[in-house]
Amino acid sequence: MAHGRRAALPPGGFVPTERLLDCVHCGLCQTACPTYLTLGTEADSPRGRIHLMRALQEGRLTLDADAVGYLDRCLGCRGCETACPSGVAYGELIEAVRPWVEARYRRPLPERWRRRLIVRALTTPRLLRALVTPLRALDRLGLLASGRALAARVVPGARLLPTSVPPRAAPPSAIAAGDARAAPVHLVPGCVMPELCGDTVRSTARVLAANGWRVIVPPAVGCCGALALHAGERGAALAAARRTLDALVAAAPTDDGPPIVVTAAGCGAMMKGWGALFTEDPARAAAAASVAHRVRDATELLASRPLRVPAALPPRRVAYHDPCHLAHAQGIRDAPRALLAAIPGVTLVAMEDEDLCCGSAGHYNVMQPAMARTLVARKVAAIRASGVDLVATANAGCALQLAAGLRAAALAIPVRHVVELLAEAYDRY
Ligand code: SF4
Ligand code: SF4
Repeated sequence: MAHGRRAALPPGGFVPTERLLDCVHCGLCQTACPTYLTLGTEADSPRGRIHLMRALQEGRLTLDADAVGYLDRCLGCRGCETACPSGVAYGELIEAVRPWVEARYRRPLPERWRRRLIVRALTTPRLLRALVTPLRALDRLGLLASGRALAARVVPGARLLPTSVPPRAAPPSAIAAGDARAAPVHLVPGCVMPELCGDTVRSTARVLAANGWRVIVPPAVGCCGALALHAGERGAALAAARRTLDALVAAAPTDDGPPIVVTAAGCGAMMKGWGALFTEDPARAAAAASVAHRVRDATELLASRPLRVPAALPPRRVAYHDPCHLAHAQGIRDAPRALLAAIPGVTLVAMEDEDLCCGSAGHYNVMQPAMARTLVARKVAAIRASGVDLVATANAGCALQLAAGLRAAALAIPVRHVVELLAEAYDRY
């Protein structure tokens, strides 16, 4: 391509061409890519996908089922970004190409509806609640395991359901915790977390309060838009992000508002990069940039100040799994490990491939169940080889995926979020 055209976004293109040319094809990212490691095919590698994106953008390749398949199989884990010495912003490329694909490629009807239903169910709290409530009832009757096995025959994603469904997170006013005179923190529970991972939300509030924060859940905060964006639904992502951004701005209109804490790695990565989503809405882009610098993962905020010393837990050898959107997208690796190491009784044990994706990746494990199962099996083998008693992670989606993988392998090793272990330790006082 002529250099004179490089800075411009070609008509119908999804990203300025120069961004695709950042890749020098060195291949140093290949072995950090879970799909390449599994399939060994160039087109299922970061370099191959960038090559494919460029060919699509330049009109040299037809957008057919094969091309879409290679892009769909990408987890968006951004392991390749960490490995790339040339600073290729792969995450931005894949997030730009996905809505472009959805606008141009007509998926078969059943697939179209399946994708739509998954995103709607996960991001519409009322719908998710309607689906989860019967599961909770089955759990109370002791029938959840057989219900899950039955459902998994029809919907593969049902295997991810936890062995028990914790009560949903309390309404915002009841989550609020901490001394009224303490420094405030704004907690964003998200869309899926309050329904499926209420324990993590409650533990986060308790641990923050135990460390001198006053936890406030601003009214009307909900979905950040990440799950819709990962499915290429840019309009739905924008609508959700706009609602939560406006609620956060209403709760703290100035730049020096309190820290905003999220408990899901994907939400943190999304909200820290919200500015790029609002390119056509300059006022909101400015608000998003101002909010973004206040966003912290729960582990990031807790590790940034001296931690209240936790009580001892029963001695356990613990492996830590890095959530991709925490390690690769936000560069947060040390904070969760430091929190774990601060709990008396916890011995951190190194594990192979700690920062390789487990296959959870937002809704990837439901959209691409076969690849997700292969990836979690690799993870389970590493957990087994490490000889640990417990696996800790800092993202509820990873915890569900790892627990499902361990259950499938008949390994009785629990998986806990770091804040849940801290809450358990504080409860022992
Ligand atoms: S985001 Fe993950 S799956 Fe996708 S190309 Fe990069 S390393 Fe591979
Ligand atoms: S993405 Fe980076 S590491 Fe991978 S081939 Fe391109 S330049 Fe090399």
